[in-house]
Amino acid sequence: MKPMIVVENLTKKFGDFVAVEDVTFAAEEGKITALLGPSGSGKSTVLRIIAGLEEATSGRIEAAGTELTRLTVQERRVGFVFQHYALFRHMNVRENIAFGLSVRKESKAAQRSRVDELLQLVRLEAFADRYPSQLSGGQRQRVALARALAPKPRVLLLDEPFGALDASVRRDLRLWIQELHEELGITSLLVTHDQEEALELAHSVVILDHGRIEQVGTPSEVYNQPATPFVAGFVGAANVLEGLVIGGRVQSGDQLITGAGHLSDGSQASAYIRPHDVLVVRGSSNGASIQATVDRVVDLGWTSKVHLTLYDGQTVIAELPNDQILGLAVQDAVFVDLKNAKVFSPPDDGKSRSDELAVL
Ligand code: ATP
Repeated sequence: MKPMIVVENLTKKFGDFVAVEDVTFAAEEGKITALLGPSGSGKSTVLRIIAGLEEATSGRIEAAGTELTRLTVQERRVGFVFQHYALFRHMNVRENIAFGLSVRKESKAAQRSRVDELLQLVRLEAFADRYPSQLSGGQRQRVALARALAPKPRVLLLDEPFGALDASVRRDLRLWIQELHEELGITSLLVTHDQEEALELAHSVVILDHGRIEQVGTPSEVYNQPATPFVAGFVGAANVLEGLVIGGRVQSGDQLITGAGHLSDGSQASAYIRPHDVLVVRGSSNGASIQATVDRVVDLGWTSKVHLTLYDGQTVIAELPNDQILGLAVQDAVFVDLKNAKVFSPPDDGKSRSDELAVL
């Protein structure tokens, strides 16, 4: 890996409040690195410090081998796109995109040719003379991106760039930005609280909670090998069953859930099971031996969520492709198996369980 940005032991305090605590990660050159975490986890603060809009309390940042901490915003050569980074209302698209170039006093001809290049890149050639009020939200964000790219930054910082847009525009823009990124190969840092967006776009994901890093990994690593209960619950949905460890399994109600070989007998544990790892069958068969009743079936188009109450009264949610839904209906008696559980001992920082319950 060739790192473009290196963040080392970054801490930011606002008075007594620690917004970012000892954060260390590297962003690979030419790739998208996502900073993912819930609201208030410190993602934007990290980005703002990298941009030079906020000063770190301690720690250091390097870009392309140069220490950034003492450089001005302009000297850092970063481009930004923020969720609500309003375009200049009195300037048309062309003038907005040219803004950074005119500040740098580039010649009119150079500005014109660079703006033409960018209009083509963001596919807004036909909109060059429009004003921001005459554009859709998605088009405005594309102008904002073109404006950020115009001065050829070394690094692109994207803070919830699609946050204010509706779901289908977000999906289109995501696909588009992926293609654009492949074409330009610019190192990008993307702040998002949307795990799907992070997993889809990023090469590497930095997961933050309460200002601290929980895990850094590829999308597949953070999804399949979550390092902490927080990551298991935050990245992808999960059922959480609590119990005591006995012989490498978690005894939760009447279930014995495998995957606790690393924990000692008698200790408390939480087992995280993805909805698609809850196997549902009509008759008891290989492994599927837990009796359950169907409470609710929610059809999501090509999959369905099946809410189940297990024999011992605990509830879980299964997700099945609709061609495997077996005509399940409320109150049907079924058998389930809980596969691929990720088992963790309770956190030792005193956080309550309910903080960590996964959203299903
Ligand atoms: P969101 O997704 O909601 O933007 P975030 O993960 O980007 O959240 P930050 O904006 O980095 O979080 O904020 C982290 C914490 O620092 C929050 O608790 C926030 O209230 C606090 N914070 C941010 N800026 C300031 C400031 N200027 N003064 C005091 N506290 C601040």
